[in-house]
Amino acid sequence: MTFDETRTHVLRSPDLEAQRAFVRALLDQFVRIKTKSVIAIKPNLCAPLPAQTGATTELWLIEEVARWIRERRAKPVLVEAPSHIHDYDQVMDITGVRDVCKALDIEMVDSRVTTMALRPLKHDDADGRVYHVGMAALGADGIICLPKLKTHNRTEVSLGMKGLMGLLSWPDRHDFHRRGVNTDVVELYRRLRSRIKLTIIDGITAMEGHGPTSGKPVSMNVLIGGTDLVGVDAVGCHIMGFEPEDVDHIRLAHDQGLGDMKRRWEVHPAGTPLPVRPFERPRPDSGLRTKIITFPPLSAALRAVRFGVSGRTKPVLNPAVPGAVLTDEAAVCPTDAIELPNRIVYERCIGCGLCIEASTSKALIPESAGHKATRVLRELIKR
Ligand code: SF4
Repeated sequence: MTFDETRTHVLRSPDLEAQRAFVRALLDQFVRIKTKSVIAIKPNLCAPLPAQTGATTELWLIEEVARWIRERRAKPVLVEAPSHIHDYDQVMDITGVRDVCKALDIEMVDSRVTTMALRPLKHDDADGRVYHVGMAALGADGIICLPKLKTHNRTEVSLGMKGLMGLLSWPDRHDFHRRGVNTDVVELYRRLRSRIKLTIIDGITAMEGHGPTSGKPVSMNVLIGGTDLVGVDAVGCHIMGFEPEDVDHIRLAHDQGLGDMKRRWEVHPAGTPLPVRPFERPRPDSGLRTKIITFPPLSAALRAVRFGVSGRTKPVLNPAVPGAVLTDEAAVCPTDAIELPNRIVYERCIGCGLCIEASTSKALIPESAGHKATRVLRELIKR
């Protein structure tokens, strides 16, 4: 497979071998790395939710890229951090990323912990803001981004550019949210742009609705790849039924000449139309909650009590469907938290909502606010 370098490339296929071949072909054509170099892999691991929820990057994709780097006798390093309130270890365990990294001997680095100053570029305003970015990413010889195809409650979409926030220190994340995200995200991309070798958006299972972590999974079987991150993000927007011009950070980046949101695309296999599906939009969100929970001392306390999982809405048995057997619901549960015929083990439940989506009989429904408050309190006391 060879690619026209002036276009963004899209694969739509449910076949894992075709997906792997597409990823390898993109890497072969677009990424040049030297022996013994260090390449940072930047997936989206924003929350303790596995890839089938639409929130985080597929494990096989991380694995494929890491193997490709190793075959070139270079060193892959996985650099990422979940959002403010999530505990790094919990996310790596629940997503399964720790097992993949262990099996392939990939170093994992929490980008929030050891950071370096990323200063304004040469010839920029000397008073420009200084960002603090994971040292493992800044010190690497290149970055390969593997973001997710999903909606976002503050920025409409979360794709390659927005995903770069996963490289920031805790205080910088808070500051980005306080200032409104878009202009900072574009500036962050501008400073990191020369280091990003390739972006491949994982749209195998995407997320619609109230993303980036509370939306609904959508099976799309799509991968979007290219070296112009703005062009790649723009195609992601089209696929989700958004106009890139309407997404502030993408339009801003385009207007600043950081990429081309009007770049043409090519869909593989040849002749396939762009797989467009209008995604459900996120609910209106003032961002107040995010501003509060990203305040560093508060987010540190929430991480310490692992509120990121406890605080999610979990399922309860629907009293209107008595005696239900939860076979379909148990089949989709990624943590074996449903025991047949109808018991939910809350200690194992991560609140991913997959069982509620799969419950066509409505035997499982989201817990009420009162049930949630009591359960969360009980879980926090236990800890
Ligand atoms: S019980 Fe439901 S919400 Fe909880 S982890 Fe399983 S599928 Fe997700």
